[in-house]
Amino acid sequence: MIQIDLTGQVAVVTGGSSGIGLATAELFLRAGASVAICGRDADRLARAETSLRAQFPAAQLLAVRCDVLAADEMSAFAQAVQDRFGRTDMLVNNAGQGRVSTFADTTDDAWREELDLKYFSVIRPTRAFLPMLRDAAGAGNASIVCVNSLLALQPEPHMVATSSARAGLLSLIKSLAVELAPQRIRVNSILIGIVESGQWRRRFETQAQPGQSWEDWTGELARKKNIPLGRFGRPEEAAQALFYLATNLSSYTTGSHIDVSGGNARHV
Ligand code: NDP
Repeated sequence: MIQIDLTGQVAVVTGGSSGIGLATAELFLRAGASVAICGRDADRLARAETSLRAQFPAAQLLAVRCDVLAADEMSAFAQAVQDRFGRTDMLVNNAGQGRVSTFADTTDDAWREELDLKYFSVIRPTRAFLPMLRDAAGAGNASIVCVNSLLALQPEPHMVATSSARAGLLSLIKSLAVELAPQRIRVNSILIGIVESGQWRRRFETQAQPGQSWEDWTGELARKKNIPLGRFGRPEEAAQALFYLATNLSSYTTGSHIDVSGGNARHV
């Protein structure tokens, strides 16, 4: 792997207490960055903080309980980062989860909730951290990276609201990239297919046959979904793409996305 030294830079990862976000926080810490993570569940957040501190005893790490959809909590999180680290160079908008529902069983409230989550999990953190990102831009690297889904380009009828919201998010990210480019802030995303993580572990617990192992269950799903690489992705594989887009390794890339779907994208 290419070595890059992020000493002195600050990365903020929303939803950094599990799965892709936690793997991303690990990569940033390994590269020497200071890292701030947030999540809603205080216990999960505390477990993530403990595991990161065990791996990186000298880590400059801040973990703040915060729901990205709550404007006041988001401002408090940004303020905590400002107070502790004094800057933010890279923002990873990762917090969220998918919604499995067809058009027939998605209520108006469910539509609103899903659109709210997908849009405001990007809008709120972006707005809260923008002043610090603007300041960091002068120092050479300022970026926003969003975790989006292949559903943005390849909708699935059994995830109708998530697919639709993901497509809108792709558009928002493009607009943001153009608006923020003159301020030297890059905005990109990754489009993931299926990545092993907390939300899939929870589905495994409720949907697997009695006695079925995690490997069998995920292998069967990968086959059913015709994923060319034949398996789910790992959180660190999504994290590596986020890391590339967040850092100066991708200094001439904005308004773009990387596919991390194991070849599942069918379009050219
Ligand atoms: P995990 O459930 O493992 O992690 C999600 C993280 O986001 C947790 O830290 C969770 O903590 C946090 N989170 C969720 N909602 C909020 C919120 N409102 N405010 C703050 N934190 C929040 O799942 P993944 O790692 O898989 O998910 C990461 C992102 O990737 C999500 O946006 C998801 O939708 C997206 N994605 C994942 C796919 C996959 O196959 N894994 C496929 C497509 C997209 P807590 O619950 O304590 O708040």
